[in-house]
Amino acid sequence: MTQDELFKVLVAHCKEYGFIFPSSEIYDGLAAVYDYGQMGVQLKNNIKTYWWEAMTRLNENIVGIDSCIFMHPKTWVASGHVAAFNDPLIDNKDSKKRYRADVLIEDYLLKIEEKINKEVAKGRKRFGEAFDEEQFRATNPNVLREKAKYDEVHNRYVEAENKNDLAEYKQIILDCGIVCPISGTANWTDVRQFNLMFSTSLSNTGANDDKIYLRPETAQGIFVEYLNVQKTGRMKIPFGIAQIGKAFRNEIVARQFIFRMREFEQMEMEFFCKPGTEMEWFRKWKENRMKWHVNLGMGAENYRFHDHEKLAHYANAATDIEFNFPFGFKELEGIHSRTDFDLGNHQKLSGKKIQYFDPETGESYVPYCVETSIGVDRMCLAVLSHAYTVEQLEGGDSRVVMKIPAPLAPIKVAVLPLVKKDGLPEIAQKVVDELKYDFSYQYDEKDSIGKRYRRQDAIGTPFCVTIDHETVNDGCVTVRDRDTMTQERVKIEDLRALIDKKVSLNNLLRNL
Ligand code: ATP
Repeated sequence: MTQDELFKVLVAHCKEYGFIFPSSEIYDGLAAVYDYGQMGVQLKNNIKTYWWEAMTRLNENIVGIDSCIFMHPKTWVASGHVAAFNDPLIDNKDSKKRYRADVLIEDYLLKIEEKINKEVAKGRKRFGEAFDEEQFRATNPNVLREKAKYDEVHNRYVEAENKNDLAEYKQIILDCGIVCPISGTANWTDVRQFNLMFSTSLSNTGANDDKIYLRPETAQGIFVEYLNVQKTGRMKIPFGIAQIGKAFRNEIVARQFIFRMREFEQMEMEFFCKPGTEMEWFRKWKENRMKWHVNLGMGAENYRFHDHEKLAHYANAATDIEFNFPFGFKELEGIHSRTDFDLGNHQKLSGKKIQYFDPETGESYVPYCVETSIGVDRMCLAVLSHAYTVEQLEGGDSRVVMKIPAPLAPIKVAVLPLVKKDGLPEIAQKVVDELKYDFSYQYDEKDSIGKRYRRQDAIGTPFCVTIDHETVNDGCVTVRDRDTMTQERVKIEDLRALIDKKVSLNNLLRNL
């Protein structure tokens, strides 16, 4: 199966098992808007809890808030979103489809990278043990030719991005022979800028000065509450404010399922520090956030940093944590050193003094800020795409199992009486009563035990507990492990501790 096909199968699986549905599907859906179903919402909540507790419980100097989606319109002038939150767009005149010019070029560059990687893989196969990748990359004519092409386009692209040169974007697209995937032609319009913020009106008059925006990021809610939190919480620099909430962007290239949505959720933390110390904190947060990811056990090799070459005008350092999605390594989280840009601008526009008085040195200053920002939905996609596994079983059978990190699994334990009679459902109910205060569970007595195991595998339940006729005599149940499919007999009173060991979010936090 190609990665593309695999991705389609994953999307279908997410729908079939109640993780994610296209929004308003009975009306044929709404592009790039998705609803979370009965399984998806639990996965999402677990991810949010893992982040929230890691931020606010494990760091004494980080507190959380919950600010509103609607904010005073001046907020978005101060943040720069009114003037500069734009995407460069290009239309294909034949298919009438609209694309982001930068994404077209990046996809083209990715294809060259893939070609190079294929050459390297061929070399590795040919030379076996003796293969020296560095030397191969430096000497193989095919690799060198593709690398030269890559460098030329990449340099032009970075320069066009830095200068915001829309004509050059178009020229690169034409020079590279990039065509519309639908029409197959290079009949392109000029590149134009398009603001990504959704707007609405506060009152019903529709007058222009009533216009307010749906926040495109949660961070600004933190900045405008900086003073309140600092004062009422008696916070001393350095300290952080964390928030989880919805954000909205009128994304043009809305594709790749929940990777790029128009309504999505962010988990952002702004860490305020003394000017001059921000690089130290930037490094610490890079390390800290990577640890949070790797701690989930989805393979350290599936993450990498991508340091930004082009920095936004307000940033003095920025990096992305990229994850190996089915469509390649892409941004999962951004870490930015934002200087005093946001607080400084809010100070200017509001006329309120937003300064920190350092009681030890007697200095006053506008704090600098390091931000960590991750999309909840992208995190869900990372988990779901990594979890989806098809396994061949003995006897020619196969199973689909979602190997979701156990503490994030929507359902932690399934309770299954072998048959619907002989007092087994009654014992199963007792088991449920024993477990329900600690774990999310499903009770299932329908169909054969094999079918029930498959249903639990498909939603990623780490443990299945089966109550059989022996249970009546010995008070033991069979516990089946999702990943290894091994089974062990366990006393009912020992169940809780056994399950907890593997699914406990607190244990996960303890390892950080
Ligand atoms: P991209 O380059 O992919 O558009 P970005 O650099 O604009 O992302 P940020 O503004 O840094 O993203 O937002 C922080 C995080 O919010 C991203 O790392 C991502 O996880 C998430 N995010 C941003 N836009 C979307 C979206 N449209 N849908 C889902 N998640 C998003």
